Amino acid sequence: MNCIFCKIINKEIKSDIIYESEELICIRDINPQAPVHILIIPKKHIEKLYEIEDELLLGKMLKIACEIAKKEGIKETGFRIVINTNKNAGQSVEHVHFHLLGGRLMLWPPG
Ligand code: AMP
Repeated sequence: MNCIFCKIINKEIKSDIIYESEELICIRDINPQAPVHILIIPKKHIEKLYEIEDELLLGKMLKIACEIAKKEGIKETGFRIVINTNKNAGQSVEHVHFHLLGGRLMLWPPG
């Protein structure tokens, strides 16, 4: 399958892996938008957030995001979890993922 995240999961492409389990892989974003920018990716190839049927998986993704926020030292200062879905939101990789961002002041509303 020609999916960049599947290639990362299968170790065909190198990435900076900071957490891995049977179901998830968490890597540093190659083009960070904040001092801490980590992607939380399910290993199963699912393209869109609304296609995930496994509620437990969604919960695990949020839980690991919070654990990583703590490890990265952004839990107390603040962090943002972003899930871009489809064109208007700017989804560029068709394999669902959460962005964990922190380490700087973020604006609201987002651009
Ligand atoms: P999105 O635009 O929400 O679909 O997010 C895709 C993210 O994947 C972007 O922030 C990219 O910088 C990131 N990305 C693309 N290729 C790689 C890669 N090989 N390693 C790490 N992050 C990547």
